[in-house]
Amino acid sequence: MSAERPVDILLRTVVETGLCTRCGTCVGACPAGVLSIRDPMGDCLPEAGDGCTSCGLCLAACPGAQLAFEPFERELFGEAASHGLLGVVRSAWIAHASDPGVRRGGASGGVVTALLLDSMRRGETGGAAVFAPHESEPWRGWGRIARSEDEIRAAAQSRYHLSPLNTVLGEAASSGLPLAYAGLPCQIHGLRRLERAGWKPRSPVRPVIGVYCGNNLYFAGTAAVMRKLGVKRLDGVERIAYREGEWPGSFTVRTSDGRARSVPKLHFNQAIPFYVNRRCLFCVDLASELADLSVGDGWMKEGIGGGWSVVLLRSEAGERAFREAIASNAVAAEEISVEDAARMHAHAFDLKKHGAFLRLGLWRRFGCAVPLYDRPAPREPAGRRAAEIFVSAQFALASSRCGRLLFAALPLGATGRLFAAIRSLWMRRASRDAGRGRSRRSRGA
Ligand SMILES: Cc1cc2nc3c(=O)[nH]c(=O)nc-3n(C[C@H](O)[C@H](O)[C@H](O)COP(=O)(O)OP(=O)(O)OC[C@H]3O[C@@H](n4cnc5c(N)ncnc54)[C@H](O)[C@@H]3O)c2cc1C
Ligand code: SF4
Ligand code: SF4
Ligand code: SF4
Repeated sequence: MSAERPVDILLRTVVETGLCTRCGTCVGACPAGVLSIRDPMGDCLPEAGDGCTSCGLCLAACPGAQLAFEPFERELFGEAASHGLLGVVRSAWIAHASDPGVRRGGASGGVVTALLLDSMRRGETGGAAVFAPHESEPWRGWGRIARSEDEIRAAAQSRYHLSPLNTVLGEAASSGLPLAYAGLPCQIHGLRRLERAGWKPRSPVRPVIGVYCGNNLYFAGTAAVMRKLGVKRLDGVERIAYREGEWPGSFTVRTSDGRARSVPKLHFNQAIPFYVNRRCLFCVDLASELADLSVGDGWMKEGIGGGWSVVLLRSEAGERAFREAIASNAVAAEEISVEDAARMHAHAFDLKKHGAFLRLGLWRRFGCAVPLYDRPAPREPAGRRAAEIFVSAQFALASSRCGRLLFAALPLGATGRLFAAIRSLWMRRASRDAGRGRSRRSRGA
């Protein structure tokens, strides 16, 4: 009997078990071009064709089934201590692009775009690996190497649908260009694992900029919200922006008849329980802990006008890129405490650093495949454990066929307002609980 090939092990243990994050690393890693992404607007899963040489890179690079953070932290950031929520942090900042157009065009403060542009202008990079609008299907994103300022600007904004960005790594390796990179935590997990497996691009990929990620959705979530806005067909869609206009922005669909239809970004979030990628429920990395520097929404400035991003500097390369961008006036920034950076995302850390670990335990008990991490699960009070049973049941029911039919019938505006209200309540509670935890810890110290 012939031995199972690494790619077959990958498909059997990751793809078929529901552990695929859709990062695209296996596709970008394969030197023989065997793998591709099937149906990007549907399940968006890798599939294998002919020609496998059994080199094993796809399996070695895949972050879907397991990830040990600590060895990477040591290798990338030295012996610095890891903050329980944020990962290794040298310093934390609140920032925005200095150019008002870049700032307004970004998802939060336009910092990622400003950093990519600045490193290109200074000649450090010749482009960047980004998740930009697809060339012939502009309603969805796709990984590409942006080689000009216009292409980097066109990639600004967040695209909240399954994103196999790392399919672009094959092209990145052979391009010979020194490239920057912007991606989600799981995409960076894949990139780091690939580097460790011996992947050698002709020029370095640096800095690796991580955007925060709470979760990601099937493209069907975008399509369902569009239908509620009265856009039934994709072929008349000229542009979709998930964060257009004044921060935090609106999900806006522009069609060829010149119409723009939109709903506030925080109302778009109502699609999350119905269309979230189940693998995201088990993801414990919000703040892109293996990036050179990480960028998320700067919620501590919510309500004061203009878009703001929170920035965490982790490695020497990340620190250099950020400080150079300040020096060349590409980015305006003020330093904040690491605790302030953690507090403004207390609700999202509740999801990822408490809820995700509880879900991992719960779903494992029901015999489901779940990913393995080297992060310890925190001890949770009985109330939090009980709440998670309710939350997990709600995710399971909402993403069922009946749940999605219900979603189609719910009124967009009223449900959106309800979701926005739940979010602010959750933010306040999580921030208060985090404060209590801190004061308990300091009394115990
Ligand atoms: C799926 C998803 C979930 C997120 N969840 C959170 C969250 O819970 N909390 C939070 O604070 N922030 C979250 N973010 C990050 C946030 O939306 C902004 O991307 C971040 O604040 C940076 O904003 P900016 O204005 O500085 O970046 P911009 O200047 O707008 O640049 C954004 C960059 O992100 C890249 N990008 C966009 N979409 C994707 C994608 N799907 N995959 C990979 N790269 C992409 C683009 O290539 C672009 O270069 C999420 C982003 C995504 C894509
Ligand atoms: S050639 Fe290597 S990377 Fe490609 S599918 Fe086969 S084992 Fe995976
Ligand atoms: S490398 Fe990424 S896309 Fe490929 S199977 Fe693993 S998680 Fe899925
Ligand atoms: S939640 Fe985690 S697994 Fe899901 S898209 Fe974000 S980084 Fe990837």
